[in-house]
Amino acid sequence: MSAAPFKNTLEPQALNDEHNGLSLNEHNQAEHFTISRFIQYLAEAVLVVSPDGIIQCANAKAALLLNCVDQPLIGESWPAFLQGRCQQQYLGLVKIVAKRVLSLQAGPTEMVVICANGERKDIELSVSFLPESPASLVLILRDLSRQKAELTQLRRQAATDALTGLANRRSFDEQLLQNWQQCTAAKRPLSVIIIDIDFFKQFNDTYGHIQGDACLRKVARAILQAMPLDAELAARYGGEEFALILPNYNEIKALNVARALQQAIRLLQFTDTGLPASVGITVSQGIASEINGQFRTSTALLCAADTALYRAKADGRDCINASC
Ligand code: GH3
Ligand code: MG
Ligand code: MG
Repeated sequence: MSAAPFKNTLEPQALNDEHNGLSLNEHNQAEHFTISRFIQYLAEAVLVVSPDGIIQCANAKAALLLNCVDQPLIGESWPAFLQGRCQQQYLGLVKIVAKRVLSLQAGPTEMVVICANGERKDIELSVSFLPESPASLVLILRDLSRQKAELTQLRRQAATDALTGLANRRSFDEQLLQNWQQCTAAKRPLSVIIIDIDFFKQFNDTYGHIQGDACLRKVARAILQAMPLDAELAARYGGEEFALILPNYNEIKALNVARALQQAIRLLQFTDTGLPASVGITVSQGIASEINGQFRTSTALLCAADTALYRAKADGRDCINASC
């Protein structure tokens, strides 16, 4: 397969100066031609730029990456394709290679390019010094868009409970610690509610685990709908246990939230999944509130909510108990 006749290379200039039987400009042009042909065969997106950033050659992959297939890259300013803060980063890389002390290469460094059509792409950029006359820089660009999208998706999956779509225990713990630090530093209250479905084992045993899963999803939706807009996070804390983080909520305000949740869950219907209209569930809830130094850590606050939950269970279920 031959390389595409990609036109992104400089046209010949006036000839003068002698060099190896060729004039210096003839020699430079021959080299330039070799480089611009060579880079067309490379798998990576490659640009050759002058030390002041003017693009001298580009391969088809670079034009594709920068969405410049139908417009010339030659003569354009390469730093103009970089997002503002990345222009400084690029100059930093150029300085490293220009010194030619430690290495003729710098990078790879993650940067953001703004393509010809305005699209932003994450790339990894390596800069190499080409010690020819005149000196130039070879830039290798690697498109990171796919990896970044996959990373975002993996991060989301790692933070989410697959069954209910709520935050999982790990993100709950991280978020609680963050809210604890913020609220205690600002001397603002922080409440936590743990919500546990009553007699859920019996629900599973009677209607089966598929219905049990549907019930967990329904409870998660009900919690999301009933929780206040300024609640920080609703999470699936464990099997049939959920938890809410309420920054700036004292015990009385948290109790009102728990009552709203209790009511919303009492009203859940299961006829849409084929169960009789008489089927319903309830939850028990434990609340703990940090107001002014009752608890030493976020873990202690959570333990207190758990203890309150046990008391709610002991009180007969479908109950709310607040730690005191
Ligand atoms: P209590 O009122 O004391 O909370 O009783 P309970 O039956 O709700 O509590 P228990 O801890 O005895 O049982 C919890 C049940 O939750 C047992 C387990 O099978 C069920 N469970 C946990 N995770 C899942 C899940 O992902 N799907 C389904 N269907 N059931 C689950
Ligand atoms: Mg439980
Ligand atoms: Mg339970």
